[in-house]
Amino acid sequence: MGFEKREYNRAYNQEMYQWCKAHNICAHCHKNATEPHKTLCADCAARQVERNQKLFAALPEAQQRARLDQAAARAARLKKQRIEHGECIQCGKKAVKGKKHCTECLLKIRRRDRARYDAKRVKTDFHEGLCNRCNEPALPDKMLCKKHYDIALRNIKKGNHLNQERGATAKHIWQGDNKICFQKKK
Ligand SMILES: [Zn+2]
Ligand SMILES: [Zn+2]
Ligand SMILES: [Zn+2]
Repeated sequence: MGFEKREYNRAYNQEMYQWCKAHNICAHCHKNATEPHKTLCADCAARQVERNQKLFAALPEAQQRARLDQAAARAARLKKQRIEHGECIQCGKKAVKGKKHCTECLLKIRRRDRARYDAKRVKTDFHEGLCNRCNEPALPDKMLCKKHYDIALRNIKKGNHLNQERGATAKHIWQGDNKICFQKKK
């Protein structure tokens, strides 16, 4: 391909790209409508991801690591820049005051967290060796998983703390209760 032709192609591609972008038409196949806020249609985006993954998998390990490091550094730079400009670190739109995300992304995150939380919270699997409160495996010799065991511990500690505030001298909540019973009996 001669220089002139290449220049012409580049200008043409740029123009085509801009036109597609303005009309929400896929910049690759020039046929399908784009996904919301994207420049490619769903098909072309999926194919691009696949192509990139294949290219990446074919690289030597050192180069893979270098690419990953570059990507991480680029993401960190962008994040810092967006925080400095008061932009959402996810999408770049104006962030909610005092937050790192815009209203839309905050909602999305909240919805995703909620779904994840629900999926874990609701106990549907009653096999032995699982936590009494969720589907996670229980700690050895315990009835609870790590998370729920920690919560239970924290609650006991909170109880102790309250007891101490009430003037109970006992270190343990149950001991404290026993003492009160004992004193009443006297
Ligand atoms: Zn397409
Ligand atoms: Zn956002
Ligand atoms: Zn659990």
